[in-house]
Amino acid sequence: MLNKPEKSKQKIKKVFKFGGSCLRDSSSFRQAIRLIKAEQPERVAVVVSAVQGVTDLLLDAYHKALGQDKNYKGTIQYVKQKHLTLAAELLSLKRFGKASELFSQIFSQLDRLLQGITLVGDSTPGLKARILSSGERLSAWLLGLTMEEAGLTSRVYETDRIGLIVDQPGEGVSVNLKKFDKNFASVSEEIAGGSFIPVFTGYFGCTENGQVALFGRNGSDYSAAIIARGLRAEILITFKDVSGFLSADPEIVPQATTIPYLDRKEAAELAYFGSRVLHPKTLEPVSDRRLILEIRSFQRPEKPGTVIQEKTAKNTSMIKSFALNQNISILRIEGPGVGHKPGIIGLIGSRLAEKNINILTVLTSQTCINLILDKSAAELACRVIKELNETSIKNLSVEHDLALIACVGFGLRETPGVAGKIFSVMSREKINLEFFSSGASEVAIYLIVKKDEAVKAVKALHREYFTSTRETEKNKPEYTELNC
Ligand code: ASP
Ligand code: MG
Repeated sequence: MLNKPEKSKQKIKKVFKFGGSCLRDSSSFRQAIRLIKAEQPERVAVVVSAVQGVTDLLLDAYHKALGQDKNYKGTIQYVKQKHLTLAAELLSLKRFGKASELFSQIFSQLDRLLQGITLVGDSTPGLKARILSSGERLSAWLLGLTMEEAGLTSRVYETDRIGLIVDQPGEGVSVNLKKFDKNFASVSEEIAGGSFIPVFTGYFGCTENGQVALFGRNGSDYSAAIIARGLRAEILITFKDVSGFLSADPEIVPQATTIPYLDRKEAAELAYFGSRVLHPKTLEPVSDRRLILEIRSFQRPEKPGTVIQEKTAKNTSMIKSFALNQNISILRIEGPGVGHKPGIIGLIGSRLAEKNINILTVLTSQTCINLILDKSAAELACRVIKELNETSIKNLSVEHDLALIACVGFGLRETPGVAGKIFSVMSREKINLEFFSSGASEVAIYLIVKKDEAVKAVKALHREYFTSTRETEKNKPEYTELNC
């Protein structure tokens, strides 16, 4: 009889994610090394984004090639030079040689791909993904070699080769966690048994047949959560150029403060509705894991950031943050019977899904279905629904220049008077509420206002909740350490 396989050892305690703003020049690469060295390095795994600005440059080269504009070569040359300069500043001659060899392989593949696209003036999602994934490959190898330079042992894992299998090709895709768990077991074993620091490329995985696929812009946070899942890490720290989630966008409210603790649901709402601190999908892969997620300032890591964990506190009745999204449009689908026509929302939803259009939120009445959409998707959504030729729909209209404010905090639904207070602030400031939605989420209330009144609204709400009542301090939740 076969022995039961030994439960895999767990070596990695923390996953560090370095975003592009943490990898922008040689001193930031050195800072990343310092942060790793301050830990027990062999218990850390690292996930990287591309060097700051590189994904945009690759995208620019891609579009030039698609337009059969040979100037893509200049853009790529610039990216190459940028990495070679970094390597020259960070590495000894011997390691510089190794870096330039690795870079050459990546750039010659890039050249081939872009040349092919220029020739035919056409591309595929898989080709685009391969091109855009080069940024993370370059930064992972560069960071890996910089670690070696600092006396650490590293191993680079390119994430289209280790089982981050996605369900469809293209962009904005998600990993199939079942397949991942199975595929990644051997990598995880190798890491647990080895004494090196694994460095993973963020941003991409691949399809079953090996085609590179992207998780969407800023998707490395999501990658880091996947890797943390696979390694059964206890803590995921994403280093950012901000100290964490704030009570409002500091560009709008300079007095905004860092939120010390967030429940996962609160963080998910904030990430989804406009806060750029975390990729909205980050919490998905760890929804069944007791992982602690921390956002920390890269430049001032000693400063407490935001800790996100499973709710362990009693409900607290407060708003922790106001997230603002200023790119909102509403598509109004009107008809006397749309509110009670069975299946119509499903029909609309599936048609929009076919076009990759994401509905942010839906508000319905008997005579109108209101789809809250990102501005960039609204016109296309309108055309798609028109093409349905659905007889119960009598009128379609799009309203642009709106903004959505998400007021986020645990206990909002149960706390009497929250809506009243919001209404009174809005009426005092003479701001018209286009929409108000409460109760859909237990941690968020959404307001939609005209875009040109949104900043005023956020300032007033923040003043009301944070300056006048200091609710955050009064109701500070008690969180307990998780023993994972
Ligand atoms: N480099 C990719 C981007 O700029 C992914 C990431 O940064 O997370 O979108
Ligand atoms: Mg980036």
